[in-house]
Amino acid sequence: MKYNREFSNFKNDYIFAKLKKTAEEMKRQGKEVVDLGVGDLSLPLFPVAVEEMIKSVKELGEKRSFTGYPPAEGLLSLREKISLDYGDLGISPSEIFISDGAKSDVGNLLDLFGTGISVLVPTPAYPAYAEANLFAGNKVTFLPCFKEDDFIPIPPVGKIFDVIYLCSPNNPTGSAFDKRTLSRWINYALSTGAVVLYDGAYCDFASENEVKSVYEIKNAEYCAVEIRSFSKSFGFTGVRCGYCVIPETLGEYNRLWKRRLSFRFNGVSVISQKGAEAYFSEEGRAAVKKRINYYKNNAEIIKIALKKKNLWYNNSCSSPYVFAKTPEGFSSEEFCDRAIKKFGIVLTPGNSFGEGGEGFFRISAFPERDKILKAVEITDKY
Ligand code: PLP
Repeated sequence: MKYNREFSNFKNDYIFAKLKKTAEEMKRQGKEVVDLGVGDLSLPLFPVAVEEMIKSVKELGEKRSFTGYPPAEGLLSLREKISLDYGDLGISPSEIFISDGAKSDVGNLLDLFGTGISVLVPTPAYPAYAEANLFAGNKVTFLPCFKEDDFIPIPPVGKIFDVIYLCSPNNPTGSAFDKRTLSRWINYALSTGAVVLYDGAYCDFASENEVKSVYEIKNAEYCAVEIRSFSKSFGFTGVRCGYCVIPETLGEYNRLWKRRLSFRFNGVSVISQKGAEAYFSEEGRAAVKKRINYYKNNAEIIKIALKKKNLWYNNSCSSPYVFAKTPEGFSSEEFCDRAIKKFGIVLTPGNSFGEGGEGFFRISAFPERDKILKAVEITDKY
């Protein structure tokens, strides 16, 4: 039997699956587990999204309003709303492609470049960037980011890459670009001929002085693809809907992506897309704002607890994650292992986000407030 040899590069379980398994095992043993590890959500969908999806199901169930396959690039009504949301940045619906989420896009977009390309991944980073590229047979170079720079990546002078992944606000560090630092990357990409895959899955968490869209940076439309998701701020991790922007100014890529979709994709569920449209309603926007504040307040509670324990943390206010330093003498995995075995608290080891993450751990602020308070109560006892 013939199988894809690239799988042999993937020795370990995908880290988040591994964490889930450990937590489940603990629960099976009857132990209380507070899971602050995996970045999934626990709060339900907003009523406005539910209503739109129910409406959509009903329309599909009626002969007169039934529709079949949606366009591969996404419903025009959703793309128009996204385009309007970009406002003065001037992104047209023809530059927007709806997907089933950002994870698919960060890997699938590699089809635009062919195999064997050189890719730069600043770390710590969302693991899917490196894994998708290793699987595609690309050469991945990691650029470690440092606590001393607030984990903001700095362009490596004198080196050339075909593709650069940037993520802001960043998972796991929470750091976000301001205009000045992101301009350095855009200028670097333009001068070296690289394409930036800009992951804005957490763009709704960006603070006022930070960049929300890469296209706020001059000339980014000549070198950057933006990836976004309805997952984290609109509660769509289970529904699945996201999008990417491939500007027409970015050479052939816009046309090539359309071509690629025509033989690889039959579009995102109409129901999901109709639900996603509710994000742009007044009610949707207000709900998103409120929930982001809720997550950010969770993060602040976590930070106070870390401060009490004299543990360093990245003081970004733009993220549903807190990235913290392990106590002296502990590696990331040793500390997280101790946290789950001794306290029943699941954390994510920093090294699972690449070499730049060793010596750190990530705490998710997505769980409900009572879980966050429970974790604080447990650690307060020690
Ligand atoms: N990008 C980053 C940085 C993420 O952290 C995640 C999910 O955790 C994703 C993309 C995937 O998001 P989606 O649910 O849209 O696939």
